[in-house]
Amino acid sequence: MSVAAPDPASPRIWLPRRLLLTRSAREWAHGRGIAERAAARGVEVRELPGDRLALDLGDDPKRAYAEAKATLAVVVAPPSKRKLQPIAPSADWRVDLAEGCPAHCGYCYLAGSLKGPPITRVYANLEEIIAGLPAYLGQGTITSRSRTRQHEGTTFEASCYTDPLALEPLTGSLSALIAWFGQWQADAQLRFTTKFADVAPLLPLDHGGRTRMRASINPRGFARFEGGTSPVAARLAALRRMADAGYPIGLTIAPIIAAEGWETAYGELIEQAATALAGADDPDLTVELITHRFNPGSKMVLESWYPGSDLDMTDLNRTTKRTKFGSEKQVYDADTMRRLRTFFEGRIAERLPAARILYWT
Ligand code: SF4
Repeated sequence: MSVAAPDPASPRIWLPRRLLLTRSAREWAHGRGIAERAAARGVEVRELPGDRLALDLGDDPKRAYAEAKATLAVVVAPPSKRKLQPIAPSADWRVDLAEGCPAHCGYCYLAGSLKGPPITRVYANLEEIIAGLPAYLGQGTITSRSRTRQHEGTTFEASCYTDPLALEPLTGSLSALIAWFGQWQADAQLRFTTKFADVAPLLPLDHGGRTRMRASINPRGFARFEGGTSPVAARLAALRRMADAGYPIGLTIAPIIAAEGWETAYGELIEQAATALAGADDPDLTVELITHRFNPGSKMVLESWYPGSDLDMTDLNRTTKRTKFGSEKQVYDADTMRRLRTFFEGRIAERLPAARILYWT
């Protein structure tokens, strides 16, 4: 599988301090290719005797976090992980190319959903993952059953457990998946959202209009909560390049944080997006609006990873929401939600009139 050269103008290309290559991953050409690309960039590659990710992380939680985040593991996704799950409200199905992310967002939803030290794991058996997708065509129950979104066909979301663009310079997995959807003569769409900006390898692909990229954005003033990601202006410029390359595009405004001054900050953000996308040829723009939420588990993990963060995770303006699986999460209270929603819907209609809001949550 060939991988395009990274964009030399790219503001950030993440390189791990070390790469762990499991025994099973070595049996896949894609896995070996990832290790070779990392080695060519000077990354230390450790070939493991088995599939256990042996790494001495020490007892100091801060150091363990830093060491885990600086580690990329190439592993094989077992059959259980290749069985796709619905992912409301984004897509019919979740397709994972990796698990974990090298960035350091103070609100990261992965803190509540992934267990153990935050080592980023990328999958070597990409061919098997892709080979499993056709069985899900026409089987979707989320967007496929939505009156306003069923025209998207069966949808597959690739950024539930990772930021796939962050890993692309080493893996090439996202490019391969986009190219595969491009030649798949089916009523289907791949979706991914990202806080990174190196889209150069994606621009020349024969995507067939079957992949929608969304830039995940927040006001400049919240950059302190998004360590290791690309600047928002670079994400928007990347999105514009994707629109110009014929991709359907979108904005994920997430997480919406009702901190002091939010109205001005988000007003400027929407303005910034409108400027970046002005004049794009048929931008086919969608918007997804996701408010900040946390649960006791994610709060505990995030407070241990980012002690001293001023991201508000108190009960202020919050209410407890019970999910259909019986767990609880803290979301903004009804009054705060109403004010936020009214603002966003009004401002988007005004500044991005062609945009379709897919959901508010
Ligand atoms: Fe988490 Fe996304 Fe930030 Fe990565 S970029 S740390 S997945 S919120």
